[in-house]
Amino acid sequence: MLNKPIKRVLLKLSGEALMGENSFGISPDIVNQIVIEIKKILEQDIQLAIVIGGGNIFRGISLGDQGMTRATGDYMGMLATVMNSLALEDAFNKNNIITRVQSAVNVEQIVEPYVRAKALQYLSENKVVIFSGGTGNPFFTTDTAAALRASEIDADIMIKATKVNGIYSDDPVKNQKAVKFDQISFDDVIDKKLKVMDATAFTLCREQSMPIGVINIFKQNSLYNFINKNFTDGTLVIN
Ligand code: UDP
Repeated sequence: MLNKPIKRVLLKLSGEALMGENSFGISPDIVNQIVIEIKKILEQDIQLAIVIGGGNIFRGISLGDQGMTRATGDYMGMLATVMNSLALEDAFNKNNIITRVQSAVNVEQIVEPYVRAKALQYLSENKVVIFSGGTGNPFFTTDTAAALRASEIDADIMIKATKVNGIYSDDPVKNQKAVKFDQISFDDVIDKKLKVMDATAFTLCREQSMPIGVINIFKQNSLYNFINKNFTDGTLVIN
């Protein structure tokens, strides 16, 4: 059970969530749809930080597979997350949501650098903070950046917003008998070999006892319901 109240949330948005039906890039309509869902939780006085992915633009691993130096591809991926953060910030601004973007890689003419104390100050002022640039290091993912930032800002939960509405016993596309877990323990995720996020990110959350939520951001009110501890629309992973 998640006994403590949910007041501060780290939301991980994958880059792919931003592209909608397209196979690349950013769909402004989709970004707006995401902002509408987020607005519902901000109206509940939730302090919100977001880690944004970059897979809709570049992924180091796939560039590496095509012959590019992996680390170079990863730097391109980190820059892609900065681009996504600008798209998201723009949509938040248009909805009168005060937002600050920080980056783990220095691009100071575009967004401010990541400074934990400043991020905490913004959160206490109820500003949305978008963390871009991943962890700032190649060979990591933005899931790991999300686990790291969630721990640093002492979030009550890290919520991974995907296109799937939770964690299933098997791939629900391939196996119609697959069942969704409303709640599951970290140990059971490992024992059952379920895929939630990459191992580094998952281990960090487990070690920090950081609860993980998995929701489908495109199912109306899923995020809102989850924050209000109705887990039927997603999955809660907890110790
Ligand atoms: N990346 C990285 N270090 C990090 C975070 C991200 O090198 O700490 C790079 C990596 O190449 C990754 C890309 O940025 O593939 C985009 O991030 P990710 O794949 O996590 O995005 P998502 O799948 O969430 O869209």
